[in-house]
Amino acid sequence: MEIIKSEGIILKKIPVLEADVADIIYTQNHGKRTFIFKGIKKTKRRSQAAIEPGSIVQLVYYYNDQKAMFHVKEFSLLVDTVTIRDNYQAMITLFLLLEVVEKTTGHNDPNITIYRLLKGAIETLHKTTAFTFLALSFIIHYLKLSGIMPDYFHCSVCHKEIIDDLYLTEYQLAAYCNQCAPHNAFIFKATVPLVHEILGKKFIEIETNKYNASDIQKLLFHTLLFIDHYFTIHIKTKELLFNNTKM
Ligand SMILES: [Zn+2]
Repeated sequence: MEIIKSEGIILKKIPVLEADVADIIYTQNHGKRTFIFKGIKKTKRRSQAAIEPGSIVQLVYYYNDQKAMFHVKEFSLLVDTVTIRDNYQAMITLFLLLEVVEKTTGHNDPNITIYRLLKGAIETLHKTTAFTFLALSFIIHYLKLSGIMPDYFHCSVCHKEIIDDLYLTEYQLAAYCNQCAPHNAFIFKATVPLVHEILGKKFIEIETNKYNASDIQKLLFHTLLFIDHYFTIHIKTKELLFNNTKM
């Protein structure tokens, strides 16, 4: 048995018996792993709050390659979710990011760039109100890092550069220009400059106000449907995201 120290982001809480809590955590050095916090429910509320989804923690744990769940020896909280907990849209956005990473990554498959992307997005949640834009920005970067981002900038048929309006068909992210778009394609107005900005700038430097909120929602929803289809999963949070807002 080996003792490992690592930073990690809590993706999901899983039900276990009695006084224990189990969490799926995306660790900085070893990717997604499952941990058990023995007897935590008997401790102070503060330490229980530290192991809620979205918290970033420093862990010390016992690693055993024969086990699927590792015992946490000690932990400390680096970033909590207390300041955004009363903000419904912020929390839904947080759960969306966590759910996407949880459902699309494998156990013990580290990716430091994805770790940093998720950590950065969680930290940004505390500093912005452009939650849908943040979710879209995260998802586009995530697709790029996962190697499945489509070429939004060229028509998949004629290869001409697309500079403004973009056409996409359902469940697919193959882009079309206005000449080649099949009749069942959806139009995403003035979306290419938006994607350029997302990929080329730091989130906090983008003037999010100049974009139409419903266009951003539409592209986010479409991209999440693509992720569902690509990974054969179901991102449940997307229904909550669009529940109380019109498309
Ligand atoms: Zn074309």
